[in-house]
Amino acid sequence: MKKIKIEDKLSLRNEGKLEIVFIGSGTAFSESLGNNNIIIIKGDTHILVDFGLTAPFALKPVTGVDILDIENVLPTHSHSDHIGGLEYLTLKNRYFGQPNGKPRLTMIIPDEYRNVLWEESLKGGLRYNELGKYENEMSFDSYFDYVTPELIKKDGRVKHHINFKGINLEFFHTNHIPGQAVKTEDAFITYGLLIDSKVFFSGDTKFDKELIDEYEDKAEYFFHDCSFAPNPVHADIDSLRTLPEDLKKKIILMHYGDDYANHDHSDFYGLAVPGVRYIFD
Ligand SMILES: [Zn+2]
Repeated sequence: MKKIKIEDKLSLRNEGKLEIVFIGSGTAFSESLGNNNIIIIKGDTHILVDFGLTAPFALKPVTGVDILDIENVLPTHSHSDHIGGLEYLTLKNRYFGQPNGKPRLTMIIPDEYRNVLWEESLKGGLRYNELGKYENEMSFDSYFDYVTPELIKKDGRVKHHINFKGINLEFFHTNHIPGQAVKTEDAFITYGLLIDSKVFFSGDTKFDKELIDEYEDKAEYFFHDCSFAPNPVHADIDSLRTLPEDLKKKIILMHYGDDYANHDHSDFYGLAVPGVRYIFD
């Protein structure tokens, strides 16, 4: 893996290698790191994974990318540090992008989550902006084109798969919320990703040894959420420390607290740093 700091403006196209860039790497409460949101780039394709409440005002300062350059978005779950900027992105695209010929945003979202995201989160701010096609309100379809990953495993840990314009994405359920849930079947929809068959992205999850065991041989690198203190809904660093030494060296910690400088993390690969291009061979 190669790391290159963005000098001026991140290009949303590259020569074909998988690339991941963090817009922010902090917890939901971080004041200095920004919400843990990423952009995946490969060839001519980019995917914005999550757009939290800090993202509309972090995107350009951190990456140089204009919000109207974003075409594809993938939300992992409904917490505001992951979708809090989606309304902004959506309305900006509709009223500043589309009038100039830009298409609607494309959302990559499993069937089971599309309606939940609309009904429970997005609808309040988006439904009444114009008269709808058939009624006096707008719908998910008014704003988004969408592609639906295929359900490939519906028992135990649910999984979906899609090859989106050359980027392979395996979605897997994680056990993030509520804190009492002991397995993914008890938990609310939250996705982690295996990106292009080589990079594990935990999304938000409690420490889940079974999940890591399952992907240990499939992934070359792991981006894993990490709390420096015990936390009911996130993996904490002491739990991650119980993993084998060679595996820890492949783990890049993300979704961490502002006080990271006070915590030793030298047994891991390191911390995810916003504004750096992580390029995978
Ligand atoms: Zn969350």
